[in-house]
Amino acid sequence: MSTLAAQYFDGRSARGHAVQLSCENGLLMVRGETVARTEQTTALELSPRLGRTRRRIAFPDGAVCELEDDALLDSWFDSVTHQGWNLVARLEGHWAMIAASFVLVMAMTAALAVWGLPWAAQKVALRLPQEWVVQLGKGTLTGLDSAMRSTTTLPVARQQTLQAGFARLQAGAGVPSVLLFRDWPEVGPNAMALPDGTIVMTDQLESLATDDRELMAVLAHELGHVHERHALQKVIASSGVAALVFVLTGDVSGLSSIVVAAPTIMTHLHHSRALEADADRYGFALMSKTGLDPVWFARIIRKLEAAHGGRATKGEKAEVSDWLRTHPASEERARQAEQYRAWH
Ligand SMILES: [Zn+2]
Repeated sequence: MSTLAAQYFDGRSARGHAVQLSCENGLLMVRGETVARTEQTTALELSPRLGRTRRRIAFPDGAVCELEDDALLDSWFDSVTHQGWNLVARLEGHWAMIAASFVLVMAMTAALAVWGLPWAAQKVALRLPQEWVVQLGKGTLTGLDSAMRSTTTLPVARQQTLQAGFARLQAGAGVPSVLLFRDWPEVGPNAMALPDGTIVMTDQLESLATDDRELMAVLAHELGHVHERHALQKVIASSGVAALVFVLTGDVSGLSSIVVAAPTIMTHLHHSRALEADADRYGFALMSKTGLDPVWFARIIRKLEAAHGGRATKGEKAEVSDWLRTHPASEERARQAEQYRAWH
């Protein structure tokens, strides 16, 4: 029978006694010169294994055995009578963990639904596979084109001039994007960045501008939206639960509803002031970088405000969101454009 050397303390004096421990049929035997006791292991408490620290066996009367760790110890205390308890303890730990995980997931889901949707949308926008982004963009444009017109009235030479200017901006931005022209009287003078980064400029905006630098100012702003994937975030946030499921589980099956809803969401899109301010700042920096004065943004934004304000007083009702709804606080932003150069 295997024995283990230990120090025995009776719990009354600090003096230790050298003893030998052995175990048989769930009975622990302590034998030394002045010690002889036998106890059921079920009545004893073995300290857990903690690194290389010595193990302790506590007796009900306060006595203690201390000894070097040994696998034999665990086998003694992991006897038939204990195995049932250990299994329960292990299951308890397991179930406690499952319950805790469940509560955590529920709490996180609730928190996300209430506070975290923009955050989740941002996560999804950054993690969404490129093929989904392209599909979203195509679906959005197809939806818009079928609702309105898929053509432009701009002569080819005029388109080429604007494309060349846009290419210079885009080279400065380093953001993948495509510029399209559309004759959309329902939208009026406007430009929008679709979820896949495609920027659509209306012929109505082209005719409103008296200088191409005004148009470049709008495109620089739109490239800011593309850079931050704002439209994508917006479309995803509108999908709510599907986006949350994707964030939590990586399951993309729910995202098809986003593609279906995208055109509708885009036509009712208006970014928050914070997002507009982000795109403005990005646009101003990009303009400065590519040799354009941000003051051109102030000029076009005032023209846009006047144009859309004029439409409203004539009693015309835009079927699709106009510049004022998609771009609030125009005057304040125009002033920021004018002041940009003084600050930078
Ligand atoms: Zn904007």
